[in-house]
Amino acid sequence: MLETRIVDRIRKLAEDGPHNKQIITAIGDDCAILRPRVGEDLVFTTDFVLEGRHFTLDTHTAADIGHKALARSLSDLAAMGAEPVFCLVGLGIPAALGSSWINQFYKGLLKLANRLSITVAGGDLARFEKVITEVMCCGRVKRGKAILRSGAKPGHAIYVTGKLGGPAHTRWRRPLRPEPRIQAGLALRRLRVSSGMDLSDGLALDLHRLCLESKVSADLRSPLPVARGASLEDALHGGEDYELLFTAPTRARIPAAIDHVPITCIGVIKSGPPGSLRLDGRLLQPKGFDHFR
Ligand SMILES: [Mg+2]
Repeated sequence: MLETRIVDRIRKLAEDGPHNKQIITAIGDDCAILRPRVGEDLVFTTDFVLEGRHFTLDTHTAADIGHKALARSLSDLAAMGAEPVFCLVGLGIPAALGSSWINQFYKGLLKLANRLSITVAGGDLARFEKVITEVMCCGRVKRGKAILRSGAKPGHAIYVTGKLGGPAHTRWRRPLRPEPRIQAGLALRRLRVSSGMDLSDGLALDLHRLCLESKVSADLRSPLPVARGASLEDALHGGEDYELLFTAPTRARIPAAIDHVPITCIGVIKSGPPGSLRLDGRLLQPKGFDHFR
């Protein structure tokens, strides 16, 4: 099948989706054009989703992979408290997978895009030995109001959304369709939380990174919100949770749930050695998922 015919079909699928008015031209031209508004900052992120690393073709359908490819990037927008604007989708696939696979991939991706109102504004297609995807997402926040990793201060409480460790517990045994916490991120920005990030590589390693950026340490307290069937080890070090980790001054009014997602206080920020973690008083190693270990 000719690439132009595949691209035409993707274009038709994408045109049925949400269209952000800031996108002046999208699929069909060499670039997408975004017209920025006064008083906003644009935030950008990009994430790989790779065969053999984030999924296998035995456990994930094309639609599962499309969902996950977009969800990973959207989770980063949620972490910053940003509203989704547009995404660009890179996809490499082996010759054995035909145009119907590509169609299903885009259907899975666009179903999530429609639900969370993000425009698919372009991308690239290529033949490759394995399935490889990279989705770049752009979001918008009120100027100077993005949630950063660097704002945690001693005395601030530490929170997470949802339950942790479920994906680690079931890894490779069922497809993961993570739900990016966009609504929670927008609400947290309005609540003026002091710092935040999304949990992709495990609570311990990600909290360690947040503490390094904020030059603080953290004391965690049991019980942590562990997903049903998962172990404490899964919750601390498993990764792929795509929940939000954030801190807030004790005077902030953090609700028990946002958009039906529970929020749990799991500890407090301290002034100890930057990046060091304790759980119930004992040192905790930040050993989650590190691609370069
Ligand atoms: Mg992230």
